[in-house]
Amino acid sequence: MNLIFKKKSYSFKLSRKVENSKTTYLTKSGWIIKLISNDKKIGFGEVTPLNKEDLKKCAKQLNMIPQYIGVFNLSEQINIFHPCIQSAINSALAEINGKIIFKKNYYFNEIDKTAILLNPENVISDLNEIKKKQSNIGKSVTIKWKVALKNNNEEEASLEEILSQIDNNIKLRIDANGSWGRKIANRWADILKDNKNIDWLEQPLCVDDIDGLTELNKKIPIALDESLLKFPTLIDKWKGWQIRRPSQENNPVNLLRELENKKALISISTSFETGIGKRWLYHLSSLQLQGPTPKVPGLAMNQFPNSFLFLNEANIIWDQL
Ligand SMILES: [Mg+2]
Repeated sequence: MNLIFKKKSYSFKLSRKVENSKTTYLTKSGWIIKLISNDKKIGFGEVTPLNKEDLKKCAKQLNMIPQYIGVFNLSEQINIFHPCIQSAINSALAEINGKIIFKKNYYFNEIDKTAILLNPENVISDLNEIKKKQSNIGKSVTIKWKVALKNNNEEEASLEEILSQIDNNIKLRIDANGSWGRKIANRWADILKDNKNIDWLEQPLCVDDIDGLTELNKKIPIALDESLLKFPTLIDKWKGWQIRRPSQENNPVNLLRELENKKALISISTSFETGIGKRWLYHLSSLQLQGPTPKVPGLAMNQFPNSFLFLNEANIIWDQL
């Protein structure tokens, strides 16, 4: 199969900055790519590296891909490229080959359909806002709290307050983005291990401390996030929750197959994609919810500006960009 390869760059400002213990996101940049096959089938993909430092590398590598290329050569060439480029190309090829067929609509807009990120500056007032909305809809909601942003005493005090204020209808995910040492991680695990509200502790220890993470996972559910990006082979080995980011993995078709095969303990997470990458997030999240361990995805729905970039129609995004 011969292909035409096209790319367009984008940049947008998040509607609210997203802060974690390692970095702050305020703007997001990347590329939309379009592949057209010789029988006129079209596939779109998105190159959206989470680390801004990777943008230059991606730009250089994308410029190395010729406009007219055979599918075999393209697949060979991208093998050594940044995982986000591989993800985008493999996504577009999967669309052309009918390995993924997107629906017209997915339903993740309501607050009970995705995890809600707490504003770390005013955790408690944010929680109260969410509780108000939750009592209006009368459904269970999931909140996510990014920790290791302040000193630990202060955050443990907030934790106590949060726990005293939430009932069974609120689920809690706590994400340290790899910034705790074993001592603090164990303190939190001890406080939370019998708590019914907790979904998991997310990447409590640094990416490399797999032994420490394995030990903690015996005490309380531990979700790996950054460790999976650095060591993708853990995807087949880790006996616990996995935060999966289709736009950061070499081939999101593998993730699609895992979910189709009803693999458990997978949670889908955004890397702040445009509408192009969001199609995968929505599709995979829908499958996740039909699997053995349904959990709402982390899609950061309220972080995006009002723009054509986040429409559901890939063609319109491409044409307007
Ligand atoms: Mg995380």
